[in-house]
Amino acid sequence: MKTSQETLYEKDSQYVWHHLKPHQKGENPLVIDSASGAWITDIEGNGYLDGMSGLWCVNAGYGRTEMVEAATEQLHKMPFHPLSNSHVPAIELSEKLNQWLKGDYRIFFSNSGSEANETAFKIARQYHHQKGEPGRYKFISRYRAYHGNTLGALAATGQAQRKYRYEPLAPGFVHVHAPDEYRVPSGQSFEEWSLECARMMEETVQWERPETVAGVIMEPIITGGGVLIPHPSYVKKVEEICKKYGLLLINDEVICGFGRTGENFGYQNYGIEPDIVTMAKGITSGYLPLAATAVKQELYEPFKGEEESDHFRQVNTFGGNPAACKLAVKNLEIMERENLVERSKKLGARIREDIRPLEDHPNVGNIRQKGLLFGIELVKDKETKEPVSAETIGNVIAECKSRGLIIGKNADTVAGYSNTVTLAPPLNMTDEDAERIVRTLKEVFRGE
Ligand code: PMP
Repeated sequence: MKTSQETLYEKDSQYVWHHLKPHQKGENPLVIDSASGAWITDIEGNGYLDGMSGLWCVNAGYGRTEMVEAATEQLHKMPFHPLSNSHVPAIELSEKLNQWLKGDYRIFFSNSGSEANETAFKIARQYHHQKGEPGRYKFISRYRAYHGNTLGALAATGQAQRKYRYEPLAPGFVHVHAPDEYRVPSGQSFEEWSLECARMMEETVQWERPETVAGVIMEPIITGGGVLIPHPSYVKKVEEICKKYGLLLINDEVICGFGRTGENFGYQNYGIEPDIVTMAKGITSGYLPLAATAVKQELYEPFKGEEESDHFRQVNTFGGNPAACKLAVKNLEIMERENLVERSKKLGARIREDIRPLEDHPNVGNIRQKGLLFGIELVKDKETKEPVSAETIGNVIAECKSRGLIIGKNADTVAGYSNTVTLAPPLNMTDEDAERIVRTLKEVFRGE
């Protein structure tokens, strides 16, 4: 007789197409059954501390009955209406997002980070069109950044291995290098190298001819590409370049948003004011699909014209689903009530201090952190900085898992740098959870 778990594993391996990685021979996948706080439990009853918040999503933690109730109530009352009209939850959420953005933005809703970015590209192109510059269609983005799985967002992505089998992608995306504090050319400070990268970005805009460039898209901190914390001067400089050449600055806050980096949004660490902000994941803490493209009010002006051809001709059936919006409002209210953004900042800094001793390990090359977002870069040799093998990274992840901690890793890049383990736990995890993360990492690196 098969156990019910064995039957589930069998059916899973027969029917479910897992994202990123196929079923591994001789290894049962993690089939998650329930979750509470920062913990997930699989169908065998094993508990794991979810150090990745699912996929950088569950910022307010699992098991929030209030959020479930808010969505359920809305589903009973009015489950669906498109935003070609409007509804109360979308209005409420748009106002709340403006408070979090600390600016004056108009919000276009969709369902995923990829769609939010596609929407941003289309709005930027049409904006320039209607301002009399139809030639501006290109976007500058950065190697190592991820912006989504659809053909435009993937074109913006700077991770070759995610792209090359699906080409041709949308044309018009030009990539430049993003500065990496751990890999600075010798003789330069990180700030000097960062400004050099910004200078090369400016030169790229000039080579492409500014009148063909619509905007720059960047995650304030490159997350899945390796948790690259920028020098503040670089971020400011990119904003300056955008202003100088009339480009729209699009900030992809799909991971950095909603407290992950210790501010409401990642860009608020750097004192810039993006023209367009895209967001998803943490907006509902992952409980329901929802995404948003927030656009500075003045950019909306040209879309208000009398002619239909002036309007933004995009419809998104499920974008801004009323239950998802209602749930998102509750999610943000909980984060405000429990000061989770502040907690991210303080707890993140504390964990960073507590894991400092890991720096003495011969394979720990660099630890990067902002709020509750961490990257620990592993190298074979601290002198050469040669990345550890995929096997070593795999072992670290497996060792953590066997001790009940889920961590992640960065997407490998063309240069072979899939050597950073990542950590992005729920912002409401307990102090004991945080201590457990620190203890587990220390045990794993000491080989205990
Ligand atoms: N931008 C960033 C920075 C992301 O990390 C992701 C997803 N990991 C996306 C966009 C795309 O989001 P989605 O998977 O919801 O389409």
